Amino acid sequence: MNQPLRIPSSNSRRLRLLLALPKLGIVLLLVAVLTLLWLLHRNEADVERSALIKDVLWLEQNLRFHFDGNEEQLQQLAQDMSNSTSQQKLFRLRAEHMMKNSPEIAQILWFDTKRRPIDAVPTSNIPDQEVDAFGPPVTAKAFDLAIRLGTRQYSEPFFLEGNRAFVQMLVPIFHERRITGMLALLYPLDTLLANQVPWWFTEKYKVEIVDDNNIKFATKTHISGNHSQSYEIPFDPPGSGLMLRITNYDAPDNTMQRLLVAAIVLLAAGVFWSLWLVRDLMKKRSHAEDALREEHAFRAAMEDSLTVGMRARDLLGRVIYVNPAFCRMTGFSAAELVNQAPPMPYWAPEQLEETYAMHQTVLAGDAPPDGFEITFMRKNGERFQALVYEAKLIDGSGKHTGWMASVLDITERKRAEELARQQQEQLQFTSRLVTMGEMASTLAHELNQPLAAIASYNTGCQNLLSNGKATPQEILPALEKIGVQAQRAGKIIRRVHDFVRKSEPKRAPCLFGEVVEDCLGFVEAEARKRHVRIECAIPPLPAIPADRLMLEQVLLNLIRNGMEAMSGNEQATRVLNIATDIIGSELHVSVSDCGSGIAPEIRDKLFTAFFTTKPEGMGIGLSICRSIIEFHRGRLWVEDNPLSPTGSGTIFIFTLPMEAE
Ligand code: ADP
Repeated sequence: MNQPLRIPSSNSRRLRLLLALPKLGIVLLLVAVLTLLWLLHRNEADVERSALIKDVLWLEQNLRFHFDGNEEQLQQLAQDMSNSTSQQKLFRLRAEHMMKNSPEIAQILWFDTKRRPIDAVPTSNIPDQEVDAFGPPVTAKAFDLAIRLGTRQYSEPFFLEGNRAFVQMLVPIFHERRITGMLALLYPLDTLLANQVPWWFTEKYKVEIVDDNNIKFATKTHISGNHSQSYEIPFDPPGSGLMLRITNYDAPDNTMQRLLVAAIVLLAAGVFWSLWLVRDLMKKRSHAEDALREEHAFRAAMEDSLTVGMRARDLLGRVIYVNPAFCRMTGFSAAELVNQAPPMPYWAPEQLEETYAMHQTVLAGDAPPDGFEITFMRKNGERFQALVYEAKLIDGSGKHTGWMASVLDITERKRAEELARQQQEQLQFTSRLVTMGEMASTLAHELNQPLAAIASYNTGCQNLLSNGKATPQEILPALEKIGVQAQRAGKIIRRVHDFVRKSEPKRAPCLFGEVVEDCLGFVEAEARKRHVRIECAIPPLPAIPADRLMLEQVLLNLIRNGMEAMSGNEQATRVLNIATDIIGSELHVSVSDCGSGIAPEIRDKLFTAFFTTKPEGMGIGLSICRSIIEFHRGRLWVEDNPLSPTGSGTIFIFTLPMEAE
């Protein structure tokens, strides 16, 4: 339980690496996806291109078939016309038929060898003069070539009717190996495309007829937009540098592709952003972990360096935590103690019942707030005194979850206290001996008086008896007086004996009046010698719990100090007063003198041991008085005597509780 909690350490380099890995992964993924898209796009473009080439070849072939078909028909017509007698009729019939079948043909013309038009179907379309006007130079060139070579020729493209482009196909009419005329087909290129390029083709492509100089002669398309790729092949026939150009347009579903790319880029950006957030969170978390680790280390260090034992128990009294100091104190390891239920292994067997009772008191929440002392046992069997403070264990949510105890091993302190107590007792005893030593001569003198009286009564009796006249009536009073004096002497001796007797301090019911009486018996002789009048009017008091001998020691000390303080006074002012008063539940006793008084600078030191202003003084009297009064749970202090006739004087006051606690 008290093992330090290990939090996995993370250094910032590892954290950075950890954070960089997903980023790298995302970049690689993005690159891979974009590459895939690019490859797909390229593949698609390749497919498109091959489809385009295929389509353009198909179209070119289609047109060629068409041209070839028309050429064939025209050749046939030319041949038929050369053999016919009614050439004109045949021409018109077949030309009209051709026109009907091939709507892309604008006009079919019949020339003589001098390029003079003989007939044309339809005639209305192109007046002769226009043919003349537009024929040369391109058609004239083709015409001449056809005459010269005797083969079918196509003219170069030329513009007619404003901006419409046309080509002419010329087929010579032979009669007996001689050219007798020329048939010509007039193709408007736009109509050619309009009729020969199917609708589906123009849904996909733009078809154009251009030349080397990029002059557009005809166009057909149904779509618009951005072109992606185009392909050109020679448009032959009609040749003359004409090219068939097919341009592909971006399919409308390209938008989908673009959207997809945009979505991927957006998603990647989103992932980056979320990674950034995660990075921030992880950084914060790492800082929090560092702080927690520091805090934990600090707490662990504190815990380890604590000399006070700490023990936590749950509400049922089961141990849930012990700190190293507690383990050191008891000698048991944390593992041996945690989860232990009463009786605990450190409970002293001989005090099991008391300890268990105290345990129950603690669980009931009635543990003394000032702590309690208890005897515990170490693992090696050694007993030790522990001072235990119990407090509620409150968790983070404010719930009472158990009890926390701080345990102090006070064995040494107890031993020291005991030693101090014994020393104090010894000191008190020594002090009493010293007092007796100091009073020895006065007491001897005091004892001398009854002894002298006994001796003189004894002599008187002897005299009476030796005269032989003595009657018992005469001797008896003397003997009685001897007895009284012997009792007086015996009382003095008993007091001295009692005073110097060594006894254990104990508080028992005692009458304060008797204490005062005994003290006065001691000091009477000294008071007489010092000419001090002792005023003492003690009313009858109930018995108080006190050690009689100790109280006598206090009173004797205060009385003797008072008498000594008045040694410089006029004899008349050497008055010492002993008074008592009951205030509340306390007995107040005051010893007032009219002596020298106490200077303010030494007032604080009076009760310190070995402080004295007297040449032969020991300075322990007042310190012992205070410890005796405190032992009786009372107080001792000093005041100035305001009623002193000399203007100076001191009152020592002490209190004693009237009843035992
Ligand atoms: P000691 O009598 O051996 O000096 P005490 O502890 O009894 O030791 O007294 C300490 C000092 O207190 C004395 O030396 C004296 O100066 C002062 N003192 C005690 N009682 C009185 C008193 N009644 N009046 C004036 N001074 C006093």
